[in-house]
Amino acid sequence: MINHSEIGFDLHDAAQRIKSKAISLGFSACGIAPVHALEEDAMFMKQWLQNGKHGMMAYLERYAEHREHPDLLVENARSVIVVLYSYFWGQQQPQDAPKVAKYAYGIDYHYVVKQKLQQLSDYINESIAPIHGRAFCDSAPLFERRWAQQTGLGWIGTNKCLIHPQLGSFFVIGELIVDLEVAYDAPLKGDCGNCGLCVAACPTHALTFEAEFDATRCISYQTIESKEDIPDQLKSLLHGYVAGCDICQDVCPWNRNLMINPNLSETVRDLVWEMTSVDWRSVTSASYKKLVKNSSLRRISYKKMCMNLQAIQTSIPDEKDKTE
Ligand code: SF4
Ligand code: SF4
Repeated sequence: MINHSEIGFDLHDAAQRIKSKAISLGFSACGIAPVHALEEDAMFMKQWLQNGKHGMMAYLERYAEHREHPDLLVENARSVIVVLYSYFWGQQQPQDAPKVAKYAYGIDYHYVVKQKLQQLSDYINESIAPIHGRAFCDSAPLFERRWAQQTGLGWIGTNKCLIHPQLGSFFVIGELIVDLEVAYDAPLKGDCGNCGLCVAACPTHALTFEAEFDATRCISYQTIESKEDIPDQLKSLLHGYVAGCDICQDVCPWNRNLMINPNLSETVRDLVWEMTSVDWRSVTSASYKKLVKNSSLRRISYKKMCMNLQAIQTSIPDEKDKTE
């Protein structure tokens, strides 16, 4: 690792250039924080896991040490560069169509973010200083919302999403961890005040004021993470969702009057958001695979999607395909 302070390296200029480049690459926002251990978050997560609120998401139990100490992910890590990529583009699904969370309307934004982060890394390497770093977007054990808060990009809302004062919460978070020290942003100290709209709106009581977040009651977990059929007592509470859930974000005042991300035209190519109830009823195993090929919905098998559709009383007639 180079000691940049010895060669007259301008930390503020470097940080500014990184952030400007991030915006020119199409990111909606960028902030930078120094790498440090996140003991409090690690303790909270340990307790949450011990209480079994993560259901079948056993992967969350692994790499606890890396999650607490990001320098285990990148040797000599000094900085966490956090980027936000808005997927808000103001379109609505057809009325009465099975509902899909907004992040799954277009192609899988995780690819887009990772590609752009690699371009940002190349830029730093070529134009600022030689670095060693790694890009992540939901691809490593990281407290990503905490890092975003630490870089001044927002606060963690009662609905567990990062709330950015201008972008609301409809965005993907990405991180570039590098062994380069630059000037850092101050953490943001916002909070939700007395709002509570998301808690009142959550149909399954996954979010409550009294208890910790219960992922096993969350529609997102039940429609995506769980490989089993949705429990009967939750089926009537799905509000038409078959993949994810936006209810606690849709009601959030910080998501009102959002700007549409002008860079989305390159990523909104799939037709998932346009599908009607009739279209969904005729989806076969083969057409489903094609439909979700470049979408984050590919994490949901055809068999599971059939279960989800049936849970909201939209059945697919092609019985023989449901075993796949
Ligand atoms: S995503 Fe839906 S089910 Fe999950 S906490 Fe938010 S409102 Fe509740
Ligand atoms: S709805 Fe209200 S309480 Fe919930 S995250 Fe938004 S501001 Fe916070």
